[in-house]
Amino acid sequence: MKKTILALLILTSCGVNAVTPTATIETLRITPKNIIVMIGDGMGPSYTSAYRYYRDNKSTDNVEKTVFDRLLVGMASTSPHTSDGYITDSAASATALATGVKTYNTAIAVDVNKKPLETLFEKARKAGKATGLVVTASINHATPAAFMVHNESRYNKDEIANAYFDERINGQFKADVMLGGGRKYFERDDRSLVTEFEQAGYQYIDSMNNFSSLDYNNPKVLGLFAASGLGPRLDDKTPDRLLKQTEVAVRLLEQQVAGFVLLIEGSQIDWAGHDNNIADAMAEMDDFAKALSWVEQYVKAHPDTLLVATADHNTGGMTLSSGEVFGWQPKWLKNIKMSPYTIAKHVIAGTLKLENIASKLGFKLSGKEFSSLNSARKLGTIDLFDAIKRLINEKTNTGWTTVGHTAVDVQVFAAGKQSKIFSGAQDNTDIGKKLLNLLK
Ligand code: MG
Ligand code: ZN
Repeated sequence: MKKTILALLILTSCGVNAVTPTATIETLRITPKNIIVMIGDGMGPSYTSAYRYYRDNKSTDNVEKTVFDRLLVGMASTSPHTSDGYITDSAASATALATGVKTYNTAIAVDVNKKPLETLFEKARKAGKATGLVVTASINHATPAAFMVHNESRYNKDEIANAYFDERINGQFKADVMLGGGRKYFERDDRSLVTEFEQAGYQYIDSMNNFSSLDYNNPKVLGLFAASGLGPRLDDKTPDRLLKQTEVAVRLLEQQVAGFVLLIEGSQIDWAGHDNNIADAMAEMDDFAKALSWVEQYVKAHPDTLLVATADHNTGGMTLSSGEVFGWQPKWLKNIKMSPYTIAKHVIAGTLKLENIASKLGFKLSGKEFSSLNSARKLGTIDLFDAIKRLINEKTNTGWTTVGHTAVDVQVFAAGKQSKIFSGAQDNTDIGKKLLNLLK
């Protein structure tokens, strides 16, 4: 007994070499087998509040908690490298989360000197883990790209797509599973990356209807379900598409005995924010929340898995109430059956009569509301789209302060093994560093 205590004392008071065996055992004990990172692009704190009230069951006398309420553990600041001010874009923020380093806006896993930074996926590969990404944008969009490859600009979309095939780590591709949009970048006149991936042993599918025809014994899958980003969730024929993609990705990746790292992005929350479009914002939030709830259950059933969810930044400066009216009225959003842009497109194309717009909006228009949309209709799709958004913003009393990003902190959500280290106040680079440290 005495000997053991003495040995422990020596171990704890000695230098690095002496503690290495203990550290290794400790690492094994504390390291999650699987890491699932979820990013709600543009999902500032007002989005999760809005989602709670949007989802509230009015027949109860309380406001029901959401998955975000259940998993909240902390906050994160998001500013990019100081040379770029306080407002980040998705590239710099994803680089922070994937590498733990602050960089300039538009950078894809390179530092301010444009030098490549080791990413979470690369480190996962070195640890023998399977890797995958699930998004609703193009799979080579800024957020997933920063976990995958290195480029001085997010706008070099073809180069980034090429690097998904060309860049290797220990001879392996960066990801086993890639699900989302972006066919036009992977199937081009000058290069068919789809064919190259197929020849390298990947299963390729171009529709979520083909999930059932996959050979689940081969975990290498490229799924490109749209030319660019997927359509808005409000128009999507696959309900809960992010959830569906997540289930497939996990089923494929969890076969790897050394575990997996999976990135899931609710890509289009940001797009709705840029558009100041509360209808699509809540639908995209719901898509993300369904996937997050599924992962919450997965982590409960697999306690060796870590879930960390956050946003890369806040978009649109959304406020729940605006002007002099006291109150926010999400009830007007509950029955919307088509995205405002698609409604506008159909009306202009003559495939939907403005008189029948209530069937898509889920509420009847007053005479005044109808005539304001009718005037906008004469000006074209964008004007009608703007008028429909304005109508919904006014009815719900939703405010917006910008069509860009804002510098407010974002929330951090976590569950499972080592989730406690993500609690409290932190910077987005701290999240990246903590994740990388868990992949020793
Ligand atoms: Mg209630
Ligand atoms: Zn954005």
